[in-house]
Amino acid sequence: MASAKDQIELIMQLRRRGIRDAKVLCAIEGVPRELFVDEAFTDHAYQDIALPIECGQTISQPYVVAFMTEKLELDDRHKVLEIGTGSAYQAAVLSHLCRRVYSVERWRELQKLADHRLAELGITNVTTIIGDGWLGWPPQAPFDRIIVTAAALDAPAALLDQLKEGGRMIIPLGETRDEQQLVQIDKTEEGLVETPLLPVRFVPLVHGRVKRD
Ligand code: SAH
Repeated sequence: MASAKDQIELIMQLRRRGIRDAKVLCAIEGVPRELFVDEAFTDHAYQDIALPIECGQTISQPYVVAFMTEKLELDDRHKVLEIGTGSAYQAAVLSHLCRRVYSVERWRELQKLADHRLAELGITNVTTIIGDGWLGWPPQAPFDRIIVTAAALDAPAALLDQLKEGGRMIIPLGETRDEQQLVQIDKTEEGLVETPLLPVRFVPLVHGRVKRD
């Protein structure tokens, strides 16, 4: 069984690896990751590793969740778009640090499970949507922050359009799984500024939503 001790050990490990933002660490501490992983993996819920979830997808490694969250520099007025709800773990962490999260997932099964988990935890400021993340979520645009948790070759144009000026996107980009880089894209008055951050390994950002699942 995963325990409170495992959770504390994980937080200490994230600190050692360089996550310094106390609010981010606190948000991670406030989300029981064991509820987001498959029952077969509950014992490993607080290890700093990615784990398989339904529909052949993965829940990201806690360090990467913490790192991406820290780089978003969130505040409680921010409206955030997440592409790739997956287990909703990242969305749950974000929910503690911003005003509202809109999260898009292409699998209905994942979206349903995500909604169930969020409701169970009493999280009311995350809206999950089934759709194609390549298109973003125009009805709620523009967004202060956009976080993409699946990898693409280039940042989707629709997402760049839906990012507010002064806003920031964090997205894994790369040709192959072995060459992905987490990239920060700031939308400034002078245009887009890209900063490479960290080598990562995400599942691909697939085109189109799943038609039948
Ligand atoms: N943020 C998740 C991890 C997501 S894994 C978590 O915290 O658990 C990446 C997710 O992106 C998968 O669930 C996958 O189905 C989804 N995905 C891939 N391409 C997509 C697209 N075009 N639109 C929406 N979701 C997509």
